[in-house]
Amino acid sequence: MLIDTHAHLDYPDFADDFDEVLARATNAGVTRIITIGTSIESSRRAVELAEKYSNVFAVVGVHPSYAEQAEDDVITPLRELAKSPRVAAIGETGLDYHSLPSAKVTRERKTQVIDALQADIEAEIESGIHDGALKSKQASLFQQQLDLAIELRLNVVIHQRDAWHATLALMREYGREVSGVFHCFGGTKEQADEVIALGHLVSFTGIVTFKNGAAVRDVAAALSLGEFMVETDCPYLAPDPHRGKRCEPAYTRLVAESIATARNSTLEEIARATTETAEEFFRLGR
Ligand SMILES: [Zn+2]
Repeated sequence: MLIDTHAHLDYPDFADDFDEVLARATNAGVTRIITIGTSIESSRRAVELAEKYSNVFAVVGVHPSYAEQAEDDVITPLRELAKSPRVAAIGETGLDYHSLPSAKVTRERKTQVIDALQADIEAEIESGIHDGALKSKQASLFQQQLDLAIELRLNVVIHQRDAWHATLALMREYGREVSGVFHCFGGTKEQADEVIALGHLVSFTGIVTFKNGAAVRDVAAALSLGEFMVETDCPYLAPDPHRGKRCEPAYTRLVAESIATARNSTLEEIARATTETAEEFFRLGR
């Protein structure tokens, strides 16, 4: 019995064969799925799915990549949605500096053969100003959602990409008031220890099954049971041997199997421990 603690079941990728996707999950022993909202609309769809299917639970929040399009007030609708007894946490929220304008400029420049220096500098200055505005919008949305989680006594699903220090600094201000899971964990053992020491958890995706995923696999092998959960982040990050294709909740089993092998453990043991951790974190009835 496994729980996929991070899926995006409301995405259009699953519209055509939703029931088959759920059936394949059940057949693979993935008996519960946490579907994660990324915007107000997506959170609303997540709650609808959780109210319709007894093995689906919802997490409601606004993803940092939506910061620019986000409504001025996201908290009123999130608070309203969180009244559903099917809502298991707040998120995903956090900081994502990967797609900031300046990061894009840097990546584009690498692909340019001829360096138009002056244009480059102008693009850099402009993107730098834009960066600052987006970073503070992301931070403000993150803080508002952490405050909401505290108000509602819920835990938080955290998305962090290329923003480790800023994320940690912001969360440290909250101390033990709020507890989160650093989903799709891809950091070092030291970074995992750091967040666990602060009272948080990490969770692992199909990256642990990748040939070039040895570093993350080693981290998953080195942590104690109770410190981590498993997820797919579907439709993204399909584990081997499905890499590159659409991911789905059934593949949580491949993630757990890979971690079990890395730990010289069994699928049963990993399933039992990660399920118990997820039941506690998301306050699911047993
Ligand atoms: Zn996600």
